[in-house]
Amino acid sequence: MSESQNLMEKIVSLCKRRGFVFQGSEIYGGLAGTWDYGPLGVALKKNIKDIWWNMFVESRDDMYGLDAAILMNPKVWEASGHVSGFSDPLVECKKCHHRFRADQLEDVTKCPDCGGGFGEVRQFNMMFKTEIGATEGAISYLRPETAGGIFVNFKNVVDSFHPKLPFGIGQIGKAFRNEIAPRDFVFRSREFEQMEVEYFVRPEAWEEAFEAWRKGVHAYNEAVGISSDAVHELEVADGDRAHYSKRTIDFEFDFPFGRKELYGLAYRTNFDLSAHQAGSAQDLSYKAEGEEPVVPHVIEPSFGVDRTILAVLTSAYTEDELGGETRTYLKFHPRVAPIKAAVSPLVKNKPHLVEKAREIYNDLKKQVPQIVWDDNGNIGKRYRRQDEIGTPWCITIDFDTLGETPELKDTVTVRDRDTGEQTRMPIAELSSFITSKISL
Ligand code: ATP
Repeated sequence: MSESQNLMEKIVSLCKRRGFVFQGSEIYGGLAGTWDYGPLGVALKKNIKDIWWNMFVESRDDMYGLDAAILMNPKVWEASGHVSGFSDPLVECKKCHHRFRADQLEDVTKCPDCGGGFGEVRQFNMMFKTEIGATEGAISYLRPETAGGIFVNFKNVVDSFHPKLPFGIGQIGKAFRNEIAPRDFVFRSREFEQMEVEYFVRPEAWEEAFEAWRKGVHAYNEAVGISSDAVHELEVADGDRAHYSKRTIDFEFDFPFGRKELYGLAYRTNFDLSAHQAGSAQDLSYKAEGEEPVVPHVIEPSFGVDRTILAVLTSAYTEDELGGETRTYLKFHPRVAPIKAAVSPLVKNKPHLVEKAREIYNDLKKQVPQIVWDDNGNIGKRYRRQDEIGTPWCITIDFDTLGETPELKDTVTVRDRDTGEQTRMPIAELSSFITSKISL
């Protein structure tokens, strides 16, 4: 087994063992291309989405949030070109009937599973179709990207908020694609989440906005702890871009299974608004006082939540030696760590010590919700368990906290995950210590 395959297996197994990510519908044998986030995964995901929302929506005056419906009028996807063109090339083996994405095969002449020959390449539309209501033949689609919901609400946001150009609309939500070959854990699944911005600009201002969002992508990666030396910009060549895109950068990441797309950044001209203007027969132009109406152009940074999670896990996975023992731990940035601190009494059988520890825990949990009470096993085992799930700090309440050494009264030990070092800290400083490390 190669080292990278090995790393991927270690990450997948840690995720299952410790309750980050489970196979979808596992007790029924699973459902290909679906994953369920467990208690720690959901906390990690929440942090990843909160940081994005904070950086790109809440902290800015030029951004508006949105949460559009997943089911949309099918005309949306006709106008956007998805009904006719959102497809991947599919080939089927004539012998074993396994199906593959033609553009992902190393050798297009023979089936990698049985060596058989392939039939014709055909285009396979990746949108999930579904029936709406009780009327036969009334179909709709599960959205294949969140962007559609943003474009159809452009006019609503303009009419209710009267924003000045440039401004953007951001949305986080589920997207669905009937991928021919879901693979590589949460990297390519059939149901996933996206965080997308459509940033509307005057045509002549696109380059400046593109550059600002390019920097924004890197700033976000840094904020969530994705190793910057594993992220690479790929300038998509003229012939490989969608016809309406004047510039696209794929942000690729060195995943254990190779360098693959993490996020995309595209200048989409005014293709989308123009298409929806034609499709809906509504005026989607923007009118500033004393100026000619203009259909704004768009810069679109598109982030996958699940790919972010995988890049964060890959960046954080560490094996080292501490105190003469090998250990595995997730070196999460404290901002994304699902648990910021574990609080424990030094021993379990001294009621006054446990009572004090509980009091400290309850107070701290009001300030920092992502902390846990942990009094399982001995302290060494606790540390190892918390290290493995990436908890940055373990807080221990001991007899000095109670005043056994008078000058240490009302202090606790704080053990650092990365160095294993312990420092004493006044109880009163715990909350500000943690919040200062996680604020943006
Ligand atoms: P790929 O070429 O890998 O299929 P794409 O170019 O089709 O990706 P986009 O349409 O640009 O992807 O989607 C924007 C983002 O959504 C991607 O950068 C990725 O982070 C995420 N994404 C797309 N498809 C999937 C999927 N099947 N599973 C998980 N995330 C996905």
